[in-house]
Amino acid sequence: MELPVPICFDLDGTLGHFSSGFVLLREALGEVWGQAPTVEELRLCHGSTDWEIVDELHQLRFGRNLDEAGYSIYEAACVARFRKVFTSGAQEAVGYRGILEGLHRLAATRQVWIVSGNAPELLLFKADVLGINPAIPRLGSLPHHGRTDLLKRALSGCPGPHLYVGDRPHDLAAAQALGLPFVGIGDSVPGGHRSLSPDTEAEHLVSAVEAALGILP
Ligand SMILES: [Mg+2]
Repeated sequence: MELPVPICFDLDGTLGHFSSGFVLLREALGEVWGQAPTVEELRLCHGSTDWEIVDELHQLRFGRNLDEAGYSIYEAACVARFRKVFTSGAQEAVGYRGILEGLHRLAATRQVWIVSGNAPELLLFKADVLGINPAIPRLGSLPHHGRTDLLKRALSGCPGPHLYVGDRPHDLAAAQALGLPFVGIGDSVPGGHRSLSPDTEAEHLVSAVEAALGILP
């Protein structure tokens, strides 16, 4: 019998991509704050979740931390922009077909979560656009949480071993902070872990995840 092992997936760059994402984030903040943060200001940010990034930009702009009300206003403005751009056909999201199919195959026998740095409502929108089964739980960027905190929250109460699938060094760092095995997607996350191309087939994702968990076929 298969064990209900919780497996967490990042979204952007791991399951697909929304190419103009950071442009829309800056535009949304421009609408809310009266002036958009510059690309240089965005580059200065160290965080990997929306809460962390918008908080850092808020400190740069206003000299004080973001509060939860300000985060909700940003989230609503950002979702509105994504809806406008990605449901009008002005831009199209790209889903990684084999990875998405593998995610759904894994979800048929195991617990699978989407744990992403997108603000929660934005994550719901993006996951829907990518056609992810609504029964798969999504955990987006909560106030005062970094990526490691989000992963810890998704896994709390679930028996291990767990695993994180991501595409960036910050995903690997969060997995390592919690002692989780990691599977990388694409070539932006160097390390000794198993790594797959975004255009890999579903069965390769499933076997890489099972091998990383130490599950024999
Ligand atoms: Mg990512």
